[in-house]
Amino acid sequence: MKHRGILLNTRHNYGQTKLKYSIMAYKKTEQYEDRITSQLITNYKQTISLLGEDAEREGLIKTPERVAKAMQYLTQGYHIDAKAILDSAKFHEEVSEMIIVKDIEMYSMCEHHMLPFFGKAHIAYIPNGWITGLSKIARVVDVYARRLQVQERLTTQILEAIKASLNPLGVAVVIEASHLCMMMRGVQKQNSVTTTSAFWGEFEKNETRSEFTKLISSRLH
Ligand SMILES: [Zn+2]
Repeated sequence: MKHRGILLNTRHNYGQTKLKYSIMAYKKTEQYEDRITSQLITNYKQTISLLGEDAEREGLIKTPERVAKAMQYLTQGYHIDAKAILDSAKFHEEVSEMIIVKDIEMYSMCEHHMLPFFGKAHIAYIPNGWITGLSKIARVVDVYARRLQVQERLTTQILEAIKASLNPLGVAVVIEASHLCMMMRGVQKQNSVTTTSAFWGEFEKNETRSEFTKLISSRLH
């Protein structure tokens, strides 16, 4: 079986389906638990001192609070249910074409150094009667990226969420990312990009998988 791809987030329209997709910025929510914030402030104040800085000097005085909030924001994914997001925009549709959302911006934090890694996610699935809102796919990336992560787990968690919600014929996830922990310290391989991938169902077949990789690696815009 050959699947025609619907390639999104580029100006190219593959097949007859004309879809244009732009990823909306994830709305920043400012909800912080006071108890956690105040404990983090104490911890970061201490961290700054331990690093040899004066936590009381003007430029740093509000830093512990900012970091406390930033870190909570960057790890908010723990409190969000990815499957529920996909389910919320799930609808019945008799299509069996490969649906691809490519170049989804991704920002996460490596769990080994708590430094950012960032790049792009490319996701495809082949529906089995159910599809979901395209922006929801991008949100699922955020849900799992906003945690302490390793790129490999991030890749499979996204795949599993799509599989669980849509029960599709196949799912593919490829993530290309640069890791600041590699770029800023030690190794200093500044241009190295780590690629991880996970394939399930139809994508375990060579033909389908190579069609997907061909589509995501084409630079048409
Ligand atoms: Zn790291």
